[in-house]
Amino acid sequence: MEEKPMANFKLIKGDITKMKVDAIVNAANTALSGGGGVDGAIHRAAGPQLDEACRKLNGCPTGEAKMTPGFDLPAKYVIHTPGPIWHGGSRNEAQLLRNSYVNSLKRAVENNCRTVAFPSISTGVYDYPLDQAAKIAIGAIKEFDAPLEVTMVCFDEGTFMAYERALDKLA
Ligand code: ADP
Repeated sequence: MEEKPMANFKLIKGDITKMKVDAIVNAANTALSGGGGVDGAIHRAAGPQLDEACRKLNGCPTGEAKMTPGFDLPAKYVIHTPGPIWHGGSRNEAQLLRNSYVNSLKRAVENNCRTVAFPSISTGVYDYPLDQAAKIAIGAIKEFDAPLEVTMVCFDEGTFMAYERALDKLA
């Protein structure tokens, strides 16, 4: 894994299901029904109890965040947040994506988490342009005022490089 350390923010390349942190964030859908991509990987690694717990939550609006235990995952909790589907940028996508990060961090603080790991929300099947998403993600995390250690877990080289570019611009 490659690392780029900062005060309370770290960028790595890896698989979020392997992260031994207080909470990992799931790029969920609004039904919280599990799916492909990182959502599918998290559900497979957490085991069937995660699906049961999610069904009791009655879905989650885009940009909001709801929490469950991590079950068989090394992480204690999973924070589920549906990011926006990219429709070209005129449907409030930027604000909604920012909300996903901020509301996930709020859930983490409310539940006394100290370490949190995020995937790159909305930049897979939901098609959000990677560089724009990276800028929003890093901005939201860096502006969030709480004693949290946040790791951004990028699954592939292209994603890692986009977040590195966004980080360099912010530094
Ligand atoms: P969305 O529907 O929000 O776009 P996706 O799961 O399709 O979510 O993609 C979001 C990001 O998660 C993509 O960069 C994808 O490569 C990445 N991803 C997929 N599996 C994992 C994993 N196990 N750990 C971390 N990131 C992952």
